[in-house]
This record gives sequence, structure tokens and C-alpha cells, in this order.
Amino acid sequence: MVVGVLAFQGDFFEHIEVLHSLRVPAIEVRSLTDLSKVGALIIPGGESTVIAKFLEETGVGKEIIRRIQSGSTDPRSRSSAPHPLFVYGTCAGAIVLSKKVTGKNAPRTLGLIDITIDRNAYGAQLQSFEAEIRVKGISGKIPVSFIRAPKIMRVGKTVDVLAEYGGVPVLVRQGRVLIGTFHPEVWGDRRIHQLFLSTVV
Ligand code: GLN
Repeated sequence: MVVGVLAFQGDFFEHIEVLHSLRVPAIEVRSLTDLSKVGALIIPGGESTVIAKFLEETGVGKEIIRRIQSGSTDPRSRSSAPHPLFVYGTCAGAIVLSKKVTGKNAPRTLGLIDITIDRNAYGAQLQSFEAEIRVKGISGKIPVSFIRAPKIMRVGKTVDVLAEYGGVPVLVRQGRVLIGTFHPEVWGDRRIHQLFLSTVV
């Protein structure tokens, strides 16, 4: 399967590099044609207001919604339902996937995961920090960076919390959507990407 990285803005190149180092075929996604070639998509960190604007203008956002919500996950299925999609959003990518965003200049979101997220909740650029987190199903600690990160304020009943930091969920999953409020690509640790890829049918 080819994995796409949404490449309108932000940290997309670093994710492509991680995927290539895992020998996963990866392409940059900027259009509906690009999106049609991938079965999984990473939405990187960056500026959520900018990413949300491009998602709307290009129609890529609507198509992500259609494919996340489509029926069968069986690749052999002959149904005419759209080819399903799995998505992993990090930081700004997490914001644009959330059901509800609070904070200044909250962008219009795709509403694909039942959480409320507060934009820039840890403060300005100076309050960015590094941390080590433990993730359900992964042994050892993983070094990650929180860069003007959003904070998850509420998770819906069917949302699975995979990691917390300081008592706050930082990596959560609901169905085909995984989101994290930190950047996993900065330290070159590939285990979060592997976790995402392992759930992709
Ligand atoms: N603060 C940014 C936003 O709201 C997210 C920061 C990031 O992706 N590192 O868009």
C-alpha cells in the first residue's frame, strides 16, 4: 500500500523520510488525484488554519471524510463503496481532524474523531518542549516534541487513549483515525509510524 503525506504546508518532508526509512512507498498529497493513489494518509504538524484552508479549497478534505466513513475495510471487497482510508494526524493534523476545536482562530475541521482539542493550549513557541512518553502496545519510552501543541480536553466514549502526558491524553484513536498532539518525526524514532502502519489493512 502507498502511504500519502498531506503536503500543503508543515512538516511533510520529515514524515516522507521516516516512511522511506521504513521502506514504505510514500508520496506527497496535494490534490484529489494524489489522494486517490493512497490507502493511508499522514496529516503533519504545521499551521492548522492554513492546512484547513487548503483542505477546503482543493476538495481533499471532503474526500478524506467520504473515504474514512466508507464501508468495507477488506481490500478484496468488490463493492462500489469508496476505497477506505486510514489517517494519522499530528499536532496541526490532529486539530484539523477533531470534532471540536477551542482557542483563538479555531479552523473549520473535518470532525472525524470525537474529541475536543484546545489550540496552542501549552502556550507560545517558547513553551514548546520535549518529553518521553509511554504508548499502549509499545515497550520502552518514546522521545517526542510538543511544538505549540494543542491539548485534548475531552475524549468521546468510543475513543481509545493510547498515551497520556501529565494526565492529559496525547495519542488517541477512534476507528480509522489516529491523532497525536506531539511531533514523532523530530527524533527519528519510528515506532509511532509503525504503530499507525500496523493498523492499516
Ligand atoms: N499551533 C499550531 C496550530 O494550531 C500547531 C502546531 C504544530 O503543528 N506543531 O496550527
